[in-house]
Amino acid sequence: MIPVGSPYPIRIDLFSDTITRPSGAMRQAMAHAEVGDEQKGEDPSTNELVALARELLGKEEAVFLPSGTMCNQISYALHCRPGDAILVDDNAHSLRHEETGAPALAGALFRPIKADRGVFSADQLTAALGPEGRSMARNAVLSIEQPSNLGGGTCWSLEGITSVTAVARAHQIKTHMDGARLLNAVVATGVSARDFCAPFDSVWLDLSKGLGAPLGAVLAGDADFISEAWRLKQRWGGSMRQSGIVAAAGTFALRNNVDRLADDHANARLLAELLAGHRNISIDPTTVQTNIVLFDLVDCPVTAPVLVERLLRKCGVRMGAFGPSTIRAVTHLDVDTAGVRLAAEALCELLDETYSMHVSKKELLT
Ligand SMILES: *Cc1c(COP(=O)(O)O)cnc(C)c1O
Repeated sequence: MIPVGSPYPIRIDLFSDTITRPSGAMRQAMAHAEVGDEQKGEDPSTNELVALARELLGKEEAVFLPSGTMCNQISYALHCRPGDAILVDDNAHSLRHEETGAPALAGALFRPIKADRGVFSADQLTAALGPEGRSMARNAVLSIEQPSNLGGGTCWSLEGITSVTAVARAHQIKTHMDGARLLNAVVATGVSARDFCAPFDSVWLDLSKGLGAPLGAVLAGDADFISEAWRLKQRWGGSMRQSGIVAAAGTFALRNNVDRLADDHANARLLAELLAGHRNISIDPTTVQTNIVLFDLVDCPVTAPVLVERLLRKCGVRMGAFGPSTIRAVTHLDVDTAGVRLAAEALCELLDETYSMHVSKKELLT
């Protein structure tokens, strides 16, 4: 059985920005949304969101989908034939958390590129292309993540994107951007979403992460690509009816919750700075660019999963364990600066307690 839900009450939730709940004002916008049949193109609120996304991302056409996962999977299935390869960083969400999607749905395999916090160079990409031949998978699509989730929220620079997409184009390889948190990268770097999206055949952004909408994502590309995307959306059961109820939340988020992402970034940096001083924690706060804080435990008597469980049980603070000694904390609109300070304090105190208990146990034994 796969465990579901937290068994303990949560006071401060830094597990993910997916846990954000629609605000009162967002719910008002949802309650008053005009709706129709989305499959027929007759839902005005969904059409409004799609038009807004087209403009924001600078693409010819866009489509509203239930999840970011579906955006990735539809794109891969359209860019690849069975037996093709998808070039991704070795920590990509589509590889680590959607591992079965592309093989099952597109018949494609992953060709992971060893990256630095989710980012790789044109030379690394070129080296990863490998030899051509009948027995080799054809490199069909380059997929990058902006910003990289498991890379600790690290942003690709516009130059980096320009250089890797140029290599892809030179090899007739399609380009895809997983922009689950694209607007975090936009706010952090000052580069426009349009500029980041321009070199890509397909791009998407998630409305349900730090933007605070309950669900949904928007996939964009040229009109032919989106028309083909609609075929798969229909086939896979992603076509909807009165989706305007949730699309209105997405529109509200794009109009009201983008600039405030800067607050989440400041809170993430603060959290990193507060944790960096602790002897059992290794993190360089200057690597924190957006709302994700990835840090390692050093000399800690317990593993990250054990510590994270204790933090939740004893302090009501939730973070995520990513491996035996790595922890991820994500800031978002439902946690304020005071909450971040409390979370850092709780974790540092818990580490001190864990460490001294361990040391005194050792003394008793020797
Ligand atoms: C969350 C996430 C996804 C999946 O999006 P869902 O809307 O949860 O399906 C894909 N890629 C990245 C980088 C993500 O963080």
